[in-house]
Amino acid sequence: MTHHPLESPAIEAVEVQAPLPKRQDGEQVLEGIGVTPGIAIGPVYLFTRDDLRVEPRKIADDEVETEVERLEHALSKAERDLKKIASVAREKLGDESADIFEAHLMMLHDDASLREPILEQIREERSNADYAVKTVMSGHRRRLEASESERIRERGQDLADVQDRIIRHLRRGKILSDIDPESIVVAENLSAADIVLFSRRGILGCAMDYGGATSHVSIMARALNIPMVVSLHGLSNVAKSGDLAIVDGVYGRILLNPDAATLAFYRNRKKKYLRLLKEQKHLVPLPAETLDGHRVTLRANLEFREELELLDEYGAEGIGLFRTEILFLMRGRITLSEDEQYDTYKRIVEAVRPAMTTFRVLDLGGDKMLPVAHREHNPFLGWRGIRVLLDKPEVLLPQLRSILRASAEGPVRILLPMVTSIEEVRRFKRIVKDVEAELHAQDHVFQDGVEIGVMVEVPAVALQADLFAAEADFLSIGTNDLTQYVLAVDRGNDLVASLYHELHPAVLALIKQTIDAGHRHGIPVSLCGE
Ligand code: PEP
Ligand code: MG
Repeated sequence: MTHHPLESPAIEAVEVQAPLPKRQDGEQVLEGIGVTPGIAIGPVYLFTRDDLRVEPRKIADDEVETEVERLEHALSKAERDLKKIASVAREKLGDESADIFEAHLMMLHDDASLREPILEQIREERSNADYAVKTVMSGHRRRLEASESERIRERGQDLADVQDRIIRHLRRGKILSDIDPESIVVAENLSAADIVLFSRRGILGCAMDYGGATSHVSIMARALNIPMVVSLHGLSNVAKSGDLAIVDGVYGRILLNPDAATLAFYRNRKKKYLRLLKEQKHLVPLPAETLDGHRVTLRANLEFREELELLDEYGAEGIGLFRTEILFLMRGRITLSEDEQYDTYKRIVEAVRPAMTTFRVLDLGGDKMLPVAHREHNPFLGWRGIRVLLDKPEVLLPQLRSILRASAEGPVRILLPMVTSIEEVRRFKRIVKDVEAELHAQDHVFQDGVEIGVMVEVPAVALQADLFAAEADFLSIGTNDLTQYVLAVDRGNDLVASLYHELHPAVLALIKQTIDAGHRHGIPVSLCGE
């Protein structure tokens, strides 16, 4: 959930006033962008891509079968990834690109030179699975890379990719079990999926070298209430696992190896912060009204079903944006069955009714790529949101059917992400009509003529807001993307974070233009960006 009264800048003003005590030798302070307010104090767990570094380890006799199982599991995960990547690549990039991944798959299936020697090394030499994969595959690779032929040398690189993929799957579970739940994860960069994984481990806080306030990893950290600071250039070079750290998500800084005075200062600050949060609760029942009496409907942004209980706690009047892609991201799959989705959507609607739930259909792409996707040079300008859905009916249709079926339980609206052209909206509406007819024919109960809204995230839509307002039942302004597309500033790139101004006059002008168009057409306009 994002906006709530407790996140007001007033808190920061109060909290930040007290100066830090004078710093002693050994203590380091780095300034960045605070994304989840809150203070966490604990030892650092340094998560580097080098966590894929493989160390040899002699395993005990009774560990052999566990290592074999880990290997089989990682191989089948790698196979699943590659099959999906190959099919996406074939569809979007053509046969030539897909062939690369088919070649990776063939390497993976080559039992005689891969699985068998690796298993042998685990069983005979009592080697851990990671190291066995590395030695067997590096051996093959060295031979390929020594070839005169460029084509064969390229195969060496392919083999390295397959090796990384297997090791990543092997390490994933291991890294998690290595992380002390009471720690602060420091990383160069994390994905939205990583932060979900770490949160399950119960980490105290998180800090990253890169990222911006509205990158999706930041939005997820906020939803999960994990104190987090991003854009801390070079942090992962100076922090070491085990260093004591303080993450100050209110002010946007991290302190490494604080001395006793700083530590005492922050322990006290943390207490004060928690007290302040409690005191602010009296604001919750007050109407969301401006000083000049303008009443706004304050709905929640939701990413996880677990956040539902926060709606009452913060006085939200329904859900203005449910980012359905998080369900998919968490399961690491681009396809979830209709029933799997229906079950979740139904429970949400039941919990929120009689208030409205706004389901945004899948917004994959940008920085919310599933591992199945191929790399794009400019993912934010690429295959994203509605563009993916209109290309992939096998993803869209089960989602639409499940949302519509859930509408039998209470008020529901559907929101379309990353719309650029009116034709996308018209096509989508035709598909909804077909799905409705099909559900009727199958005697399903649902809300007929569900409202369909358009996200205003791309300048083209704001500039033609009248056209879209005539076609849509409501508009929702996604200022996170709108700001990045208007100002040409990547929302997740810390190098340009200081240029990302959601209150830039150009952004405000487009917001106004959109709201005016909504008024002219008598449809509601909401704002769901951070
Ligand atoms: C936005 O772009 O403002 C928005 C709400 O969508 P998301 O942050 O999920 O891209
Ligand atoms: Mg968006």
